[in-house]
Amino acid sequence: GKRIGVLTSGGDAPGMNAAVRAIVRVAISRGCEAYAIFEGYEGLVQGGKMIRKFGWADVRGYLAIGGTLIGTARCKSFRERSGRLDAACNLVKNGIDALIVCGGDGSLTGADILRKEWPGLIEELIQNGKLTVEEADPYKHLTIVGLVGSIDNDMPSTDVTIGAVTSLHRICEAVDSISSTASSHSRAFVIEVMGRRCGWLALMAAISTGADFVFIPERPPSENWEAEMCDVIKRHRQLGKRRTIVIVAEGAIDRNLNPIKPDYIKELLIKKPLELDTRVTTLGHTQRGGRPCAYDRNLATIQGVEAVNAVLESTPDTPSPMIGVNENKITSEPLLRAVELTHQVAEAISKQDFRRAMELRDPEFAD
Ligand code: ATP
Repeated sequence: GKRIGVLTSGGDAPGMNAAVRAIVRVAISRGCEAYAIFEGYEGLVQGGKMIRKFGWADVRGYLAIGGTLIGTARCKSFRERSGRLDAACNLVKNGIDALIVCGGDGSLTGADILRKEWPGLIEELIQNGKLTVEEADPYKHLTIVGLVGSIDNDMPSTDVTIGAVTSLHRICEAVDSISSTASSHSRAFVIEVMGRRCGWLALMAAISTGADFVFIPERPPSENWEAEMCDVIKRHRQLGKRRTIVIVAEGAIDRNLNPIKPDYIKELLIKKPLELDTRVTTLGHTQRGGRPCAYDRNLATIQGVEAVNAVLESTPDTPSPMIGVNENKITSEPLLRAVELTHQVAEAISKQDFRRAMELRDPEFAD
């Protein structure tokens, strides 16, 4: 059986534990061994106690717990070849021949680089005496599988990332709480939500809570947005609405790529003509989740099973896959392609080609 390592990396996302649990237990039930690598790539680079064999009972209770129990970290050294060299050495020394990485686009980019460099890294480890030829021989090929865990839902080529739906639930609960006090005092609230360069959380939260206005990176507002926003809010107020909710994605930008900041929106709302009593609320880390919702537990479990399947089916010639979900079906596509798409999205946004960014994220958008 294979010896499968699993790590969680980048920002924590609710459901990551369910993925680890599924991977460990399916691996064991298929006659493989499972290894938890603690603190993301940091554990891979450091080795030692950071890599631990996991048994069936080690993941007991994982389903209902938010965050990631095996830890995550932003690991600088893995960005350097020397760090990846240590990582490769630790994998071989622990006999791990397959690695499942659950993380965001950065983590999967790192995984893809490790995949590309692998034969060269092993050769270098032999040359500098860290590994013997015999030791290295069974590890000519490393199987890597990517799972997308991120609250941002910012990965192209998958409809939903593990953790995004839980985060959306938390945001909705928070906006609902704010709404009741806003109505009571007839106030306006400008609420900043997470998502990095992706507006999914902001847009879905705005629809789910009936917000008055929303700002997202993928669709900057018109040149004249300040007046337009005030008009919309004024109309809503004239219709008798006692609360005003404006949702701002943390990556929201205007047409000149300048950030749209909640405080600036507040200034607009307190001025004439609206003169609303306005507060800014940055939801912050409460959005990162806590207890995963049922959807994320299920998604992570099914994708975890699929990740182990992908490990067992892989051959040295198949490209490393990323497990996704598209139109409710679990999908698998080359990790390389998915990573490439995320870079194209970032480039399109930096060139102000927002339509292209949307098309890359969702090909159907082009139709
Ligand atoms: P989130 O979307 O939640 O922020 P992420 O996976 O995108 O998650 P990052 O901080 O970008 O988060 O990446 C996590 C880790 O992956 C980094 O700390 C680093 O160790 C590794 N990594 C990211 N980009 C690269 C890269 N280009 N080369 C090597 N390793 C990388």
